[in-house]
Amino acid sequence: MSKINSMTNAKNAINNSTGKTKLTVAKFGGTSVANFQAMVCCANIIKNDPATRVVIVSASAGVTNHLVRISQANIGQEEQHSIIEKIRAIQFNITENFDNELELNEQVNILLSELAEYGISQSEQHSAKTTDAILSYGERISSLLFTEVLRSLEIPSSCFDVRQVMKTNSLYGKAVVDIEQLKAKTIELLAPELSTDVIVTQGFIGQDSLEHTTTLGRGGSDYSAALLAEALNADNLAIWTDVVGIFTTDPRITDQARAIKEISFGEAAEMATFGAKILHPATLIPAMRQNIPVFVGSSKEPEKGGTRIQENVESKPTYRSIALRREQTLITIKSPAMLHANGFLAKVFDILAKHELSVDLITTSEISVALTFDNPPNSTQSLLTAAVVEELEQLCEVSVEHGLSLVAVIGNGLYATKGIGDTIFDKINDFNIRMICHGASANNLCFLVSEADANAVVEQLHTSLFP
Ligand code: ADP
Ligand code: ASP
Ligand code: MG
Repeated sequence: MSKINSMTNAKNAINNSTGKTKLTVAKFGGTSVANFQAMVCCANIIKNDPATRVVIVSASAGVTNHLVRISQANIGQEEQHSIIEKIRAIQFNITENFDNELELNEQVNILLSELAEYGISQSEQHSAKTTDAILSYGERISSLLFTEVLRSLEIPSSCFDVRQVMKTNSLYGKAVVDIEQLKAKTIELLAPELSTDVIVTQGFIGQDSLEHTTTLGRGGSDYSAALLAEALNADNLAIWTDVVGIFTTDPRITDQARAIKEISFGEAAEMATFGAKILHPATLIPAMRQNIPVFVGSSKEPEKGGTRIQENVESKPTYRSIALRREQTLITIKSPAMLHANGFLAKVFDILAKHELSVDLITTSEISVALTFDNPPNSTQSLLTAAVVEELEQLCEVSVEHGLSLVAVIGNGLYATKGIGDTIFDKINDFNIRMICHGASANNLCFLVSEADANAVVEQLHTSLFP
């Protein structure tokens, strides 16, 4: 089936089944489903907007981190037991608000017993496959409970296992979704359900061809929601979180940060890529493919509005925002063989590609190249392994530096604006800049500073760019 036909069919299936022409796919993050009161705020948002028919939820706040600990090495029986009890307490705090509390507790208990059966990893980390299975329980429980909250507000709803449609490869921990299968299965299995119910489903998780559970990477529920919005040809994607939109920088770094009303896909994608935790880096790719506007707002304060991300925006300021990404690894590779030689970089990138490592920033000099890699916070795997370094060392001298943060100034026409060097660097000349990248994109200028300086750099830069 052609791409256009399959998408038209999705829309028809939804229109036929709902009798409505507008569809919003909404995603609620961890803090939005952290407890019963937070879930009720989300349910009211859905009640007030009949277009919201598909809902993607994260695990209740804190649960995925607990699950990551369960999957790690050196966790004893006692600690595993105590963590499962913590998860049970978070979930039972929600179920105690229901008349059918006992029945729901039973459902939660069944899932937690299944989780406990993965056993204790005495000395080694669980395999990536088992880790993904363990990590899936957060979303599987929260989606079950959120469906009950909707029902308690008399919103007909059902819980849908996203693994039926979110088919992926077997790259556990960062599985790649098969978009065509997702579309076909969404039309076949999910769209018909919309005739009667609001569908609640899980972010973050998927399933490979052997029916093993996979995950899309930490924070991946935003991406799951965007993929489902694309598969359903939705009119809007709403990301409900704990802040009233996308800010000029992370509001946890400076209270001077302010919400942005409207931002282009390109700028927001750069922000997500360069660490603005508000959106998973891949979120905007499906939205851009299908030109679906994205809204970001606070589930606790929906009346305050939020940020609209779309293709065309009225204002295109030179400076839009500052993103910060911590825990960067910088490797510098040096080889006299590079001098006037062809193909050296190709060999380096071959090695990196073989190990599925993607490079973020890159600068070169006569006989050396510096590259950065992301080490996402709370990630389940370390990306730059000893094996990669060893293989590179066969080719050249390698030095690895940790403890760095990437600061990205996001805006418009940055490489075509005079004086940005002065504007940006003049205010932060008390700090050492380890590496600078500028010119590849009109939307960003990036540099590395030490982790210890990162907050102060962003704060001072914010004061000067957004006075
Ligand atoms: P959720 O659990 O809803 O997915 P996250 O914690 O992943 O929420 O993302 C929301 C957080 O992102 C905010 O609380 C905020 O601290 C952080 N953040 C980072 N950069 C920005 C930014 N530019 N604008 C708004 N929030 C940001
Ligand atoms: N629960 C997952 C995480 O904490 C996915 C998400 O919340 O987006 O990373
Ligand atoms: Mg998130």
